[in-house]
Amino acid sequence: MVLKGKVIDAPSVLRGVPPERLLADEMLGRLARYLRFVGLDTAYARGLTDDRIARWASEEGRVLLTRDRGLAARVPGAVRIRARDIAGQWRELRGSFSDLPGTVRFARCTRCNGEVRRVTLSPDAVEPVGAPVARIATGLPLYRCTACGHVYWSGTHTLAVQRALDRWAAESGR
Ligand SMILES: [Zn+2]
Repeated sequence: MVLKGKVIDAPSVLRGVPPERLLADEMLGRLARYLRFVGLDTAYARGLTDDRIARWASEEGRVLLTRDRGLAARVPGAVRIRARDIAGQWRELRGSFSDLPGTVRFARCTRCNGEVRRVTLSPDAVEPVGAPVARIATGLPLYRCTACGHVYWSGTHTLAVQRALDRWAAESGR
């Protein structure tokens, strides 16, 4: 890897805690959603030129995740992902960031990457979005995206995501 003209040892730079801010390229939309599920601020570059992606990563201090070898080579600190399947992509990322979180957290909107916060909503507001009113009445926490307003709660979908994360963690021997 070349960073500011100096050759550095990639593993020593990348191993450990994942960066606070990530930018996934167009080919990694599913990976971006999973990263948001575990609470990582992950922007998604769709329909942008390589120049704009490189500038975005630089301006916001985001680590670029990309399947494009050329793009990975020109953006300092970028992580190139080779796998096409989500399990393989997650495994590769775990190879770069051993402390990649593996638990679903309601911190980032999986739709828009907005910040998600705990909220209290009345049944009138909950019913239209399909939330389980009876479970909410007995204390099921609700969360809402501060950017797009999407409402989240722990349910069958998040359970399925957590199972997938657990499976990938077990497969890589953790
Ligand atoms: Zn949102």
